[in-house]
Formats: sequence, structure tokens, C-alpha cells
Amino acid sequence: MKRILVSGGAGFIGSHLCTRLINEGHDVICLDNLFTGSKDNIVHLMNNHRFEFVRHDVTLPYSAEVDEIYNLACPASPIRYQHDAIQTVKTSVMGAINLLGLAMRLDAKILQASTSEIYGDPKVHPQPESYWGNVNPIGYRSCYDEGKRCAETLFMDYHRQNNVRIKIIRIFNTYGPCMLPNDGRVVSNFLVQALQNEDITIYGSGSQTRSFQYVDDLIEGMIRMMDTDDSFTGPVNIGNPKEYSILELAEKVISMTESKSKIIFKPLPDDDPKQRRPDITLAKEMLGWSPTVELEEGLRRMIDYFKDYKV
Ligand code: NAD
Ligand code: UDP
Repeated sequence: MKRILVSGGAGFIGSHLCTRLINEGHDVICLDNLFTGSKDNIVHLMNNHRFEFVRHDVTLPYSAEVDEIYNLACPASPIRYQHDAIQTVKTSVMGAINLLGLAMRLDAKILQASTSEIYGDPKVHPQPESYWGNVNPIGYRSCYDEGKRCAETLFMDYHRQNNVRIKIIRIFNTYGPCMLPNDGRVVSNFLVQALQNEDITIYGSGSQTRSFQYVDDLIEGMIRMMDTDDSFTGPVNIGNPKEYSILELAEKVISMTESKSKIIFKPLPDDDPKQRRPDITLAKEMLGWSPTVELEEGLRRMIDYFKDYKV
């Protein structure tokens, strides 16, 4: 049984991670400022004596006695992270510095939830970890992409300079229950629109691609990564290599929900990556991990969640 800190624990992914860790018998501190997270996501854990929610902003120092830290605090939806771009950079960079400092003092293991966005609009396809990426440093997405890149740098430097035990995973587009209906990312947007028979909003022509991973697969990969030997730091890609165009996703959602929605096309946001698919050779080799939930199955589970949620 370990004491584990999860920053961003009230968010979409963080709440799944907290639930899994509590179910495994660990003590969990969930640190979150509730910017994009919600107490609803963790309400089922609130009465558990091994679970503690702390409302706190990771740009400020925090201290507690823990064995492991998962650093997930950061808004992940483009509309949310662009809402206060400076705070997004601060969250990634100062959050990493604060939690790496804590890990250093405690000799705790710390895992960074990095992102496929560090590859930017990739010129190498699919993307292996050895690819350095193609990122605009001064665009609307930069607060997120460059913040996350800087956090990776800090993780590696704390490891090399101070022997901090670090792990970096690069998460590719993940979906599932506990995404807020107004989160703004594509899977939740399309499902909510379809369930309400409203227009499905495709940005651009819909020819851009993403590879969608169900949240349970990610959590499994994340925990396996934390449990690897100290000599293995990553970065490791965690994602589902099955690639879909956004138009294909819209059509699948309409047919699965038997919706009357029509597809409409809106302008493509600046710097929107044209293609994205993980090369997961390293995850297979080092973690014995590969995704198990097909898109249709994952969407089915999420449709049930949103129906119960009554969007
Ligand atoms: P989310 O927005 O649902 O969750 C982020 C959580 O962090 C929220 O609960 C939010 O309130 C909290 N947070 C934000 N700023 C904070 C701050 N300054 N201090 C404390 N808490 C703060 O997003 P998510 O999809 O659950 O993403 C979780 C992590 O995984 C993020 O770091 C994100 O960058 C990373 N990630 C997610 C995806 C994905 O597809 N979902 C892909 C790549 C990386
Ligand atoms: N997208 C879309 N309609 C929406 C929301 C997103 O067409 O209502 C597109 C978006 O432009 C991008 C893709 O879907 O090309 C994935 O967007 P998301 O915000 O989910 O993730 P990211 O761009 O960060 O991968």
C-alpha cells in the first residue's frame, strides 16, 4: 500500500486514476484547483477514508508525505487551455518545478502526463518517441505544447542533476466517461451534439486525423509505467494506433447514436495538427502494454454515460 499524490485528480483522466488507485488499496491525495475538473468526478470517493481532496493550484508549492506523484494538472482541451494561456504555461512549468522539488525532497517517484502535442503538426508519421516534433513556439496552441515540452525538459534535468526518479508518458487523444459535456474536445462535442440532434461541428474539412484511446487503456499504461524500474524514464507514447479522420468519427457517432444531426463545417483553428498516430513499439516492449478497447466499444460506453448524465 502506497501514499500517492495525483495532481489534476478531479479532471477527466485524473478521476479515473484516483478510482483505480483507491480500488487497489492505496492512500490517495487528489490535488486540484477545479479549473476544468469537477467534484462530481470524485464524489464516489469522498467518503473513503483513504481518499483526500485538496483544493490547490500547482503553481504554488505544496507539501505532503507521499511515495509517488502523478502530475496531471493542466487543462487539456484547446478552448480551455487557450482561455488563460499564461496560466496554462505557469501550470505546466511551475507545477512541474513545484512537484519535482517535492519528489526530490521525499525521494518519491514522479510521473509526468505529457502529450502527443509535443510533436506539434508532425512531419514524421506515425510518431516515435525519437521524433523531436514540429511545434510553433508563438501560436495559440504554444501555451500548451511548449509548456508541456518545458515540463519534459525539467523532468529530465531534475533526473540528471538531482537523481529524481522520473517517468514521462506522452498521451495521445483519450476519451471516456467523466469528460465534461462542455469540455470542447472532439469526442465529447460530437457525442453531445448527436445525442441532442444538434449540428455536428467539424473544424476544417474533417480530413485531419487523430488516434483515439479509451481511458481505461491509458490508466493501465500509466500504472505500468510508474511500476517500471528506476532506470527507465521514458518518454513513452501511450495511445491507440488506430487512426481515424475527423469526418469518419462524425459519421460513426451519428450512426451509433441514430441521430438526426447534420454535419456542418467550421473554420479550422490555427496550427491544428493534420495527422497524429502513435508508434507504440516502445510501450509494447518496455511495459508489455497495448490498447484493448476498440473505438466502437469505447464510444458505446461513453454514450451510456452521457445518456445517464442527461446531456
Ligand atoms: P482535464 O482538463 O479534464 O483535467 C485536468 C485537471 O487539472 C482538471 O481537474 C483541472 O481542474 C486541473 N488543473 C488545471 N490547472 C491546475 C492547476 N494550476 N492546479 C491544480 N489543478 C489544475 O484534462 P484531462 O484530459 O484529464 O488531462 C489530464 C492530463 O493529461 C493533462 O495534464 C493533459 O495535458 C494530459 N493529456 C491528456 C490527453 C487527453 O487526450 N485527454 C492527451 C494528452 C495529455
Ligand atoms: N474538432 C472538430 N470539431 C469539434 C472539436 C474538435 O472538428 O467540435 C477537431 C479539431 O479541430 C481537431 C480534432 O477535432 O482537428 C481533435 O480536436 P481535440 O480538441 O479533441 O484534440 P486535439 O486537437 O488537441 O488533438
